[in-house]
Amino acid sequence: VRGGMEYSLLPVEQEHAVRLGEGWTPLVAAPRLATEVGVGQLLLKCEQTNPTGSFKARSIAVGISQAVAFGFRRVIVASSGNGAAAVGAYAARAGLEAVVLVAEGTAPEKIRQTQFYGARVVRVRGLYSNSYALADDLARRYRMANLTTTFNNPYAVEGNKTIAYELVHQMHGDVPHAIFVPVGAGPMLVGIMRGYRDYQELDRIAGAPRMVGVQAEGCCPVVRAFRAGEGL
Ligand SMILES: *Cc1c(COP(=O)(O)O)cnc(C)c1O
Repeated sequence: VRGGMEYSLLPVEQEHAVRLGEGWTPLVAAPRLATEVGVGQLLLKCEQTNPTGSFKARSIAVGISQAVAFGFRRVIVASSGNGAAAVGAYAARAGLEAVVLVAEGTAPEKIRQTQFYGARVVRVRGLYSNSYALADDLARRYRMANLTTTFNNPYAVEGNKTIAYELVHQMHGDVPHAIFVPVGAGPMLVGIMRGYRDYQELDRIAGAPRMVGVQAEGCCPVVRAFRAGEGL
């Protein structure tokens, strides 16, 4: 949320803020889809209008801003998708060197956007988990801010709260019955919950929405763990 109190709720010192116009994405009514699924009203928060094409711009804007505030010159991320692209763009804006680790089998067209921003893309042998571990190791050894978007960077997670702030504004203070969120590891879902909690603590809204995490059937470890009753 631009200016005002909402942005001051994020862990960003204004003089180090790195921004590319992220946020304030449209909230679009989908009446035909609502009828199809049998609900009265269905609204879509269209995150593709963010500067790098996904909501990752929100978290990475905050993560990169804090990396600058802490004096980091280099950042690293294990991602071959939207997280990588966002790190590439925001690092370029801030004048930081960006290293992006991708699994060796990643298709070239998936990493083109990231390379376009000038990030150095490195292929890592094996599965994503290898890239993840290596990013952690290199970040510690060479003093690089690790922006891997699976709860690795606490500042980045906070950036997702702006989705909730915007929804409150766009719905004129109303809170929806439920919000359906696509989940990888879950920082977007957690960020939205924290954003609504902030506004509850400020007495701006009456209640919080029910949160529903959604995963694709073909890759749903969180859903399976949830059903199996596994803890964190
Ligand atoms: C990253 C990403 C997700 C997963 O979100 P998390 O916050 O990592 O759980 C879902 N959809 C898209 C398009 C993404 O880029």
